[in-house]
Amino acid sequence: MTAAKSTEKVTGLANSGNPASSSNEDTNLYHQAIFDNSPDAIIFGLPDGSILSVNAAACRMFGRSAEEMCAVGRGAIIDFDDPRSREAFGEREQPGSFHGEITLLHQDGTRFEGEITYILFKDSNGRIRSSMIVRDVSESKKVADSLRWSEEKFSKAFEYNQAMMTITRLRCNTLLDINREFRKNLGYEREEFRGRSVEELPHWGDLNDRQKMLQHINEYGYISNYEVSFRKKSGEIGYALLAASIFELAQEKHLLCSAIDITESKKATEELRSSQEIFDKAFNTNPHAMFIVSMNKGTILEVNDTFLELNACPREELIGQNIFDTGFWIQPHARHRYIERIKREGVVRNFEARFRLHTGKIFTVLLSGVAIPWKNEPCVLSIANDITQLRRYQQEMARLDRLNMIGEMSASIAHEIRNPMSTVKGFLQLLKGQDRYAEDSEYMQLMIEELDRANDIITEFLSLAKNKPVDKKPENLNERIKALWPLLQSDATKRDMYIKLELGNIPDIMIDKDEIRQLILNLVRNGLEAMSAKGRLTIKTYENRNGVTMAIHDQGPGMSTETQEKIGTPFFTTKPDGTGLGLAVCYSIAQRHNATIKVQTGSRGTVFKVIFPLMQPG
Ligand code: ADP
Ligand code: MG
Repeated sequence: MTAAKSTEKVTGLANSGNPASSSNEDTNLYHQAIFDNSPDAIIFGLPDGSILSVNAAACRMFGRSAEEMCAVGRGAIIDFDDPRSREAFGEREQPGSFHGEITLLHQDGTRFEGEITYILFKDSNGRIRSSMIVRDVSESKKVADSLRWSEEKFSKAFEYNQAMMTITRLRCNTLLDINREFRKNLGYEREEFRGRSVEELPHWGDLNDRQKMLQHINEYGYISNYEVSFRKKSGEIGYALLAASIFELAQEKHLLCSAIDITESKKATEELRSSQEIFDKAFNTNPHAMFIVSMNKGTILEVNDTFLELNACPREELIGQNIFDTGFWIQPHARHRYIERIKREGVVRNFEARFRLHTGKIFTVLLSGVAIPWKNEPCVLSIANDITQLRRYQQEMARLDRLNMIGEMSASIAHEIRNPMSTVKGFLQLLKGQDRYAEDSEYMQLMIEELDRANDIITEFLSLAKNKPVDKKPENLNERIKALWPLLQSDATKRDMYIKLELGNIPDIMIDKDEIRQLILNLVRNGLEAMSAKGRLTIKTYENRNGVTMAIHDQGPGMSTETQEKIGTPFFTTKPDGTGLGLAVCYSIAQRHNATIKVQTGSRGTVFKVIFPLMQPG
């Protein structure tokens, strides 16, 4: 209808090429229907570019009415800047045809791609006419382009992906492709895999993993973060985190797998875990007390089993407490110095400190500390080496050294002093008996007593000598105590005190009677002197695997730490009229008997234990 006036010519022309038509009338009708309804634009014209008639599709395609098209001619609908257009229409004068793609112009100025069939032919009158059939291919071209583009994108994303990737056709389990990362990491060539069945390929560390993966995918449609093992061409086993899903390609189900190699990080995690385990073991089984405390706040973050044993308190009570609140550090400024040194030098070794733990027991420790990060905080890991015993031995040694020195000195001078003293005493006794001194006999008696006291001190002093001869014989300690009992008892009664005996069943030991008597007297006297009226002193004997023990327990006020450190040093006394020799003599006697003296003291009393070795059988 758009090109009504040229229809006749057109149909006439068309008919000439189609002798198989049933009748001219019918053919004309067919041609008209095709012309009107064709989705392609049909344009009839002359070789010079003028347009004689167009169909409805042409009008839609170029955005012009039929009249407009006829008025503007071919030049307005074809972009002759496109060399293909120039080639299509060129200088064509004679019948012939061109088929190809050219650029066309819409009325609004936009360009689009069209596939044209351009034919020059002679009409029934022998005049050259042109017909042009145009198909707009810009949309299908766009689709094709984007398809190619997405295919390219996919294959690039596949090939150059950082993850190892495979595509498998599920129907036959055939591996279609492996990407660069896969080939690089596993050491295979593409040709070794392509087209082969997954079951016969060696790259799965465990084919059961694949089976489980497929089950999961069947159920959920995909899988991610699935840890699998894989086998390299070298035979080496690695680990990967796998993600996979099914997609349709050419109406077939395919499996796309991508996997990230986690072998290194797994190894690192395992190493970390094993070093953590080693640390935990070393920490908890260490025979030294260990603890981790935050450097700045002083919060206790971790303590080991040895620490807990020493402290006798459950872990929960300790963790999270502030170390200053626990009172562990007897001298808080020492902790300050310790921490400052660690901050400065990173590590401190053998820092001597004194700790008081929950039990009240005081420890001398050598601390070694190192700065460590712990739970995102700067902390100090400390190891405490308990040297309480060592220090005690050292004190003991020093005490014995002093004893020995004094003992030796006393041995050499005692004789020299005693001789003149006994001369003076002798004369005093002589003179005291004479009438002319009767008035002063009282003073003389006092002088004699003082001389006796001096003599007693010298005797005691002499007993400090290390190499003083002793006469040791097997005897029962209980007998010695019983023999002394009346004397001790009267001593106690005088002070309104009471002595209790708890003598156990003990074997004989090697003792020097006189010395043991002295030892018991000195210890019992000290105990009585420490107590107030009504006090009770207990003397106990018993045997255990350490030997035979005599324990003298008083109910006195105990000793200060300072006193504890000094006892046994000759002339150390806290009493106004004490000599400070009693314990020195006791230590000396114990030493000659290979016995040890242990002291336990507190506000409720003091126990002196003398532990004698058992006699060797035979
Ligand atoms: P002295 O008895 O002459 O003072 P010692 O050597 O016997 O000399 O004792 C030394 C010091 O040890 C005493 O002065 C006292 O301070 C202390 N001491 C000894 N035994 C006890 C005890 N059982 N209780 C309290 N303190 C004691
Ligand atoms: Mg004494």
